[in-house]
Order: sequence, then C-alpha cells, then structure tokens
Amino acid sequence: MIGAVDIGGTKLAVGIVDENGAVLSKMEAPTGPDSTYASGLENMIAMLRQTARTAGGEIIGIGIGSTGPVDPSTGEFGEVDFLPEWRHKNPVHDLAKEFGVQVALENDGDAGALGEAGWGAAKNKARLIYVTVGTGIGGGIILDGRLYRGVGGAHPEVGHQVIDPSGPLCSCGFHGCWEALATGPAMESWFQSQLPTSEPHDRHLSAKQICHLATKGDPLACQAVERESNYLGLGLANLINLFTPDVIVLAGSVMKSAALFLEGIRTTISRGCRFVPFEKTELALASLGDDANLIGAARVWRHRFGRAGKITSQS
Ligand SMILES: [Zn+2]
Repeated sequence: MIGAVDIGGTKLAVGIVDENGAVLSKMEAPTGPDSTYASGLENMIAMLRQTARTAGGEIIGIGIGSTGPVDPSTGEFGEVDFLPEWRHKNPVHDLAKEFGVQVALENDGDAGALGEAGWGAAKNKARLIYVTVGTGIGGGIILDGRLYRGVGGAHPEVGHQVIDPSGPLCSCGFHGCWEALATGPAMESWFQSQLPTSEPHDRHLSAKQICHLATKGDPLACQAVERESNYLGLGLANLINLFTPDVIVLAGSVMKSAALFLEGIRTTISRGCRFVPFEKTELALASLGDDANLIGAARVWRHRFGRAGKITSQS
C-alpha cells in the first residue's frame, strides 16, 4: 500500500492507494496562507497513520503531489505563494525519517499527469500532455513513458504560454497568458464585464453557473462558452503543434463542463495545426475522478521507485 499526500493551498488530503490505483481510505484537513509547516507535517503524519490503520495494511512508500514550486530532486519547497510558511521546508526528508520508507514528491500537475498515464485515461500511451483548467491552468508532460523535466529539473508551465499579448495582465508578468484568459475566474470576469451597466451587478456567476445558463440558451452565457472554447482550443493547438502527443488529458473544474467546449476546441484546432497530424491527437477527459490528486501522488512514488520500491530512475 502506498501512502499518498496531496498538498494544496486550501486543503491537505492524505490517503492509502493500492497497487492498482484504488484509494482504500482517505482523510483531509484544511490549509491556508497562515498554515504552519509544523502543524501541516503533524497532520500528514497523523492522517497517514490513521488511513493506513483503516485500510488495514502497511505503507511501503509515500508519494506527494504538491502546489508548487517544489524541487522534486531534493523534496524541498520553493517560493510557494499559497503556503508561505512552508517555504524551504522538506516533507520528503521529514516523512522518510518518520516512516522509514522512501518518499517522492512532484508538482501537482506532474502528479496528475503520472496518475492518468499510469492508472487513468492515458494508460499505455507513450506521449501525453495533462492539462488541468480550474482557477489556474497547470499540467504535466510525459514523453516515452517518463515525466518530462526541463533544465535543472524545472517544471514547464503550460498555463503561461501567451495566447493574446493584448489580453489581461497575468501574475507572471506577461499579458494574455492562457491562464489569464481561459480559467474559470477569467470566464467569470469576462461575463461580468459584458453585463449592461444599467443592470444591477448582482449577477456575479461562477463559471459553473455560466455553463449551466449556456445549456439553457442564455445568449451572453453562450458567447462566454464560445470564447472559452476558442481560448482553450488555441492553447491546446499550440501544445499539439509543439509536441504532437498521442493524447491530451483534460482535467480540472472547468473541464467538468467539457461537453460544452469540445466541439469549439476541435474547430479551433482544425483551423490551424495543418502541418501536424492533429486529428491523431486524442482529446481525453481525465478519468480518475475526485480522487485524482491522491492517485497521482501515489503514482509519483511508483514512477520514482517502481513496484518493489527500487529506484528505477532519479531523473
Ligand atoms: Zn502568465
């Protein structure tokens, strides 16, 4: 049984995952900008012990997927925005010491990619790109079955490809990144900005509500969906042009409404991409459901250390 830890800006989830990627037991605790690392570590340890007891087995290794930036080679947190108190702390070192097992950590986008590649929608696919669209856009790239890493082990940021330089300012410094245009909040603020000024602004709707309105035929909501589909399609078209992957796995809260976007996405992709066999790249929806982050975290350990806990690759 693999111990799985998912560290996010609002919650810490812990679970026990078996050799087939099934979650046997799980628990969670809240996190926030004020969460200290000491209390987080204490929670991780207590929840790992409790979930292992519930599942009735022994933890042979621990995998962690975390909000970033993190250094997968050392296990140390970088300048994490969401959890400032956790900067430069090292849960890999601390959990290995506590449990006496090997521990591996990856950025949560990479963990998601590994989960879908190993036990999900992209099983047996050699080249895949995992894209998660929610309050941000993140992802991970798997080439020839291995997690792609950049220089110095860096994690590529698919969400910060520029889609429209005249677009809104992004947190990274550029204007019009994919993340500034195609996330749930981007869709919400565009919708809000299009409401007539005479109309009272009590119509602040979530992306999910806008999608629901679109299914009822609301013209502005339909426009928002069309705009979203186009931006999603442009970003995906760039990934297809650059990588020509076997499959792109779509995950995240916005993709729960994927049925509304897929046709528009495909139309946008087919408008360009004519120098690559874009029609061979499958667009698949993530298949691991609500436990995807925990399953991905477990897969982080499997990818690093293999079935028997033996090191198969350090890179
Ligand atoms: Zn950006």
